[in-house]
Amino acid sequence: MNSHISLPDAATLETPDCPICESRRNAAFIEGEDDLGGNPGRFTFVTCTDCGLVYQSPRLTIDAIKPYYDEEYIAHRKKSNWGVLTSFYEWAMGKLDREKMAIVGKVADLGPGAKVLDVGCGAGSFLAMVRSRTGAKCTGVDFEDMSGQPWLEGVEYRHGTLCAQDFGDEKFDLITMWHFLEHDYEPRATLEACRNMLAPGGKLVIEVPRLDSLSFRIFGDRWPGLQAPQHTMLLDKAHLNTLLNVAGLRSTLHHSYGAFPAYFYFFLGSVFKVQKGKGLNFNSVIYPYFLGQVLTLPVFLFEKRLNLAMQTVVCEQA
Ligand SMILES: [Zn+2]
Repeated sequence: MNSHISLPDAATLETPDCPICESRRNAAFIEGEDDLGGNPGRFTFVTCTDCGLVYQSPRLTIDAIKPYYDEEYIAHRKKSNWGVLTSFYEWAMGKLDREKMAIVGKVADLGPGAKVLDVGCGAGSFLAMVRSRTGAKCTGVDFEDMSGQPWLEGVEYRHGTLCAQDFGDEKFDLITMWHFLEHDYEPRATLEACRNMLAPGGKLVIEVPRLDSLSFRIFGDRWPGLQAPQHTMLLDKAHLNTLLNVAGLRSTLHHSYGAFPAYFYFFLGSVFKVQKGKGLNFNSVIYPYFLGQVLTLPVFLFEKRLNLAMQTVVCEQA
């Protein structure tokens, strides 16, 4: 828990329009807590009466959400200090990037002439792998400034939101968003910007948690995909497609899995059910995490054929 974060109030909350259709008519869907950070407050996700999208409203303003992305936030962890388990953690992170490479390798022909943009790149280890394996020119954008990592040499790092960047006429053969879109405060504008930055034949690859999945049905208001208050939308397959369409994009391929392991959501969901909003101490669950991973391996070997927790969509200009 971050001691600087207090209970949300009228000054830190806003009621956004529906990110897809801009309607303001909605009905309560589910309430979540900050199960990851353990900070106070209950956060409401609503269903848009007009298009059916599930999004958070009211939500914290962009300034008020920033403290939740503190240095403990998993995507922004720079290094770990778990003793002997550090090497397992590094293996898991490397595996995540290898899974991302496997997904994009099937849809984009990357080589030294190609240009790749990763939106919400975090510490940039995926781009470092793309660059070393393909020689492509790599650019990353993140609202946290994590440039300066040694592996980012040769990778262009831009700090801020995508829409605030000036790329001029630069076009990309591949744009990726790994668990970024569901955090975005202006997803439609971001997707429109991506659409306009795709080179002819270019692909946009997006991974997000999947609302219409088994893990949501099991964990409900403790589903890790809620990730209140950071997640601004909860996307099922249909509404992910609708959002793409209103931004001038069209899906050419949809997977009921992602690079991110579904096991992580089943483990976290189980912990959240027990903790009931008290937050997660990574150091105390790291051994159970790896033990559970080994014990459930036979199930998760088949996760790409099941609809457990994640989805990935490949799209192009409509
Ligand atoms: Zn709507």
